[in-house]
Amino acid sequence: MQIADNTVVQFHYTLSDATGVLESSHDHQPVLYMHGQPGLIDGLVAALAGHEAGETFRVELPVDKAYGPREDNAVQKVQVKHLQGAKKWKPGMVAIIQTEEGQRQVTVVKVGLSQAEVDRNHPLAGKDLTFDVDILSVREASEEEIAHGHAHGEGSHQH
Ligand code: ZN
Repeated sequence: MQIADNTVVQFHYTLSDATGVLESSHDHQPVLYMHGQPGLIDGLVAALAGHEAGETFRVELPVDKAYGPREDNAVQKVQVKHLQGAKKWKPGMVAIIQTEEGQRQVTVVKVGLSQAEVDRNHPLAGKDLTFDVDILSVREASEEEIAHGHAHGEGSHQH
């Protein structure tokens, strides 16, 4: 079965940039997603379409097809209590903040007692990215998954 809308896909990936490997799902669980649901970057979704279980491929995404260029002047002050994802913060850590456009990943630049400076650029902004993808399985989405708009794990209802 080929990856298309309303199929559920499990795949492993290794993500690299010009300096080497940035992260790999081989260190933990494979990615489980329903094709057509938001969340993955568009360039990767487009590259996945049409592939089948057992296939491996590489997709190279230039900055504009990945997370976009880094913005200058993207550092802002926030209350430390509004940083989500850890209890103690150090420069370089990635935090989640709520914005008017929803959740956003930011990188901590400086931490004080009550205020922190964060960089609003996505941690992968400004990088040409290469994904090496290993497709494990492709199946049709269930009616429940299509109704929910996301994939469900085997034997459990994960949200
Ligand atoms: Zn659900």
